[in-house]
Amino acid sequence: MAKKGKLVVISGPSGVGKGTICREVIKKTNTVISISVSTRQRSESETEGKDYYFVSREEFQKKIANNEFLEFAEVFGNYYGTLKDKTEKLLDEGKNVILEIDVQGGRQVKEQYPETVMIFIMPPSRDELAKRMTGRARGEDPQTAKRRLDGSSREIAEAREFYEYKVTNDQLEKAVEEVINIIEGKAGEI
Ligand code: 5GP
Repeated sequence: MAKKGKLVVISGPSGVGKGTICREVIKKTNTVISISVSTRQRSESETEGKDYYFVSREEFQKKIANNEFLEFAEVFGNYYGTLKDKTEKLLDEGKNVILEIDVQGGRQVKEQYPETVMIFIMPPSRDELAKRMTGRARGEDPQTAKRRLDGSSREIAEAREFYEYKVTNDQLEKAVEEVINIIEGKAGEI
């Protein structure tokens, strides 16, 4: 039987570039990204079953009742969750599985699977994050942008408690290499 894969949680403020890092990591290693279930609206650039499984709130509630989630959380007014069965199957196949999820979800995963590798992606600075966020969310009013930025500060503070690794996304290539080294067990804890 194949050796079980590692479960890896990657979190970080929105706009920090964790999606890009994850895409690079899976290209270079025996690692896959888990596809979450979400109640948020699909954007035009997204594909059902590739970016998310998009469902209604009712369908999401049903999955909660059926105990289908390894973890779930409400983020920015929408529900997001990781499917237990699919994740277990990938791990059993010997693949490392990345969960790109928020800190609330990360906490739930770590409680159930203490061996989970917990990585938090940091922005080079708060100023830089603010710049990236406003760049990404064009048209967003300043109050909403500030709320998201404050939310990030809270998330960063909470993550200190139970994330073992911190990677600063200053240069993409370097950040990708660091994440790969952590997953492959070549990096020391910070
Ligand atoms: P977005 O809507 O921008 O794709 O994701 C918003 C936030 O939800 C991000 O912080 C992302 O990491 C988080 N997220 C995505 N999928 C999941 C999930 O399955 N569980 C949890 N807890 N958070 C998720």
